[in-house]
Amino acid sequence: MKLLEDRILRDGQVRPGNVLKVDCFLNHQLDVDLLDKIGEEFYRIFKDDGVNKILTIEASGIAIACMTARHFDVPVVFAKKAKSKNIDGDVYTSTVHSYTYGKDYNITLAQKFLGPNDRVLILDDFLANGKAMRGLLDVCQQAGASVAGIGICIEKGFQPGGGELRREGYKLASLAIVDEMGDNGSLKFRETEY
Ligand code: 5GP
Repeated sequence: MKLLEDRILRDGQVRPGNVLKVDCFLNHQLDVDLLDKIGEEFYRIFKDDGVNKILTIEASGIAIACMTARHFDVPVVFAKKAKSKNIDGDVYTSTVHSYTYGKDYNITLAQKFLGPNDRVLILDDFLANGKAMRGLLDVCQQAGASVAGIGICIEKGFQPGGGELRREGYKLASLAIVDEMGDNGSLKFRETEY
C-alpha cells in the first residue's frame, strides 16, 4: 500500500535492534484518516472470505481492527495481555514471547466471544517473528473458529514470521513489507502480493 509505505518513509524511525518506530501515526498517536484507508484496503483484500469477526491483540491492534470492522460491519474482539479480574466465565489463554519487550506474557480471551461458528480475520500492526500471531491462532484453534485470513500493517520481511505463515497456507496480506532496515535509517520495501 503506497500510502502506508510513503508514510513509513516520511515518519518512521529505525531504532537499534531492528525496531521500526511508527508511534506518531500507527500505534501511539493515531492518524485516523490513514487508519480508515488501511481498513478499506483490508476490506478490499478479504471481503469475499466470509469474515464474521475480527480478532486482534491489545493495544496496538485495536484501532486498526475497529477501523477495518466498520467496512465489514462485524464485531471486533481483542485478546487481553493483562490479567483482568473483570473477565467473566471461562477463558482461552496462550503464552506469547514479546519481541519488543524480550519476555513472555499470557493472552486471555473470554470463551463467550469466540467459537466454532466464527470465521475470523486476524489483524495486527506488526509481524516479525510471528509469536503474537501464533498466540492468536492458538486461541482460534482452542475456540474451533476458522481463520479466513491474516492482515498486517507492517511485516518485517527479514524476520521469519510471515514466510512461515505463508508456507502453512494462510492468506496473509501485509500492506507494507520491509525487507531491509539500514543503520542509517534507510528502508527497502518488497512488492506486496494483494
Ligand atoms: P512478533 O510476535 O511477530 O515477533 O512481533 C509482533 C509484535 O511485536 C507486534 O504486535 C508489535 O507490537 C511488536 N513489534 C515487533 N516488531 C516491531 C517493530 O519493529 N516496531 C514496533 N513498533 N513493534 C514491533
